[in-house]
Amino acid sequence: MQFDVVTIFPGMFGTVFRQGVIGRAIERGVIGLAAHDLRDYTHDRHRQVDDMPFGGGPGMVMKPEPVIEAVESLRSSNPGPVVLMEPWGEPLGQDLAADLAAQPGLIIVCGRYEGIDDRVRSVLGAREISIGDYVLSGGEIPAMVLIDAVARLVPGVVGDPGSLTQDSFAGERTGWPQFTRPAEYRGMNVPDVLLSGDHARIEQWRRQQASHRRERVDTKRDAQIKELKKT
Ligand code: SAH
Repeated sequence: MQFDVVTIFPGMFGTVFRQGVIGRAIERGVIGLAAHDLRDYTHDRHRQVDDMPFGGGPGMVMKPEPVIEAVESLRSSNPGPVVLMEPWGEPLGQDLAADLAAQPGLIIVCGRYEGIDDRVRSVLGAREISIGDYVLSGGEIPAMVLIDAVARLVPGVVGDPGSLTQDSFAGERTGWPQFTRPAEYRGMNVPDVLLSGDHARIEQWRRQQASHRRERVDTKRDAQIKELKKT
C-alpha cells in the first residue's frame, strides 16, 4: 500500500516513520511512504500556498491550485482515494481504518492555517477525516495518526497477525490488562490465573476483564456525550 502525503513540512514524516513496526514495514517494502512538498507545486517566486479569506476574518486559507496540482500529479502513481485532514471531518475509528487499509493507496493532504479552500474537496472528490474533536495547528500529526492506524492493518506490517485481532476496538471489546515480569511489584501481584498455565481459564479471564474495561469506557463516554448535549 502506498501512502503519499502532501504537506508544507515534509521533513516531519521521516523521523517518525523510520522507527518501530511501521519503519520496518517501509524498509521491507510492505508499504511505501512519501511526503511531498506542497510548495513544489506553486508557480510564483515566493512559492506561496496561502492567501487571505474571501469575506474577511482572521488567518489565511490554503490556495486550491497547488493542492489540486500536487494531488493530480500523484494520482498517476497512486490509485487510492484522496483524504483531506480536517478537524470537522468524519471521525477516524478502527472501522474506518480497516476500510482504508483495503485500498491500494492513500493520498493525504495536510491542512495548515484556517484550512483548505472548500473547492478542493469537490474537484478531487476527497474525503475529510478528523482524528478527534479538538484543533491542532496542522494536518501533519493527524496524517501520521491516520497512516499508523491504517498501515498496521495492512497484511504483513505487524509480524504476528494475532496481535491485531486482540487489539482494542478490533471487535466488541477493548484489549485486556497485560502484565510482565516481575510477578510481584511494590506489593502488587500479577493475577494468579495468568500464572496457572490453564489456557482456557486465562482466555475466559481475559474476556471478562476486557468486557469490564469496555463497560467502564462506555459509561465514561456516555457521560461525556450527555454533558456535551447539555451545553
Ligand atoms: N480554523 C480551522 C482549524 C484549522 S487547523 C477550523 O476550525 O476548522 C489547521 C489544519 O490542521 C486543518 O486544516 C487540518 O488539516 C489540521 N487539523 C487540526 N486539527 C485536526 C483534527 N482534529 N483532525 C484532523 N486534522 C486536523
